Amino acid sequence: MDVFIDDWDRAVAFHGHKCPGLAIGYRAAKIVLRELAAGRAGDEELVAIVETDACGVDAIQVLTGCTLGKGNLLYRDYGKHVFTVGDRQSGAAVRVAMKSGAWPEDENYRNLRVRVFSGRATPEEKELFGRYQERRLQHILEAPEEEIFKIEHVPLKMPEKARLFNSVTCAYCGEPVAEVRARLKEGRYACIPCAENYSRGWESIRKY
Ligand SMILES: [Zn+2]
Ligand SMILES: [Zn+2]
Repeated sequence: MDVFIDDWDRAVAFHGHKCPGLAIGYRAAKIVLRELAAGRAGDEELVAIVETDACGVDAIQVLTGCTLGKGNLLYRDYGKHVFTVGDRQSGAAVRVAMKSGAWPEDENYRNLRVRVFSGRATPEEKELFGRYQERRLQHILEAPEEEIFKIEHVPLKMPEKARLFNSVTCAYCGEPVAEVRARLKEGRYACIPCAENYSRGWESIRKY
């Protein structure tokens, strides 16, 4: 139980708050580590593929040691609470997918959430929302795991280890960019935002 509390506290400390989404990632991480019988990845023994950029990813990073910065956390923008973690040494991988209905939502909850996140909630509504969230959080932490997740051992094609790439300078914004990510625009190097003229990304509506 101590280990449980300690791990959870570390995840909360890293993430900055307790929330149901963090709990999803926390339980998923505990399951994959147990299934792979591995500890935290010191360097790059484990690799995680996450299909969401929501809160749970922070627990995955803390518990598995797979992080965006080390290059052994791969983000796929699928909007699904699905976490696959593979062990480079054994070649084993486990895919943990949140089941539909894992966190029951009723109409009241959904309405309340809209009001809270649009800044229109009264203090009473905020408090009620907080109580909902606390209940959802406890449910995710305590429910039998097969109620919450589909767990499968899967073959995983191991991505190449992170490498360092040469960088070039974008002719349009003057910022350095990894050569492998650079595009050519009118015969000159361009970073992707300049080449495609799109925003810098990473905008997302926080979801709980
Ligand atoms: Zn959160
Ligand atoms: Zn540029």
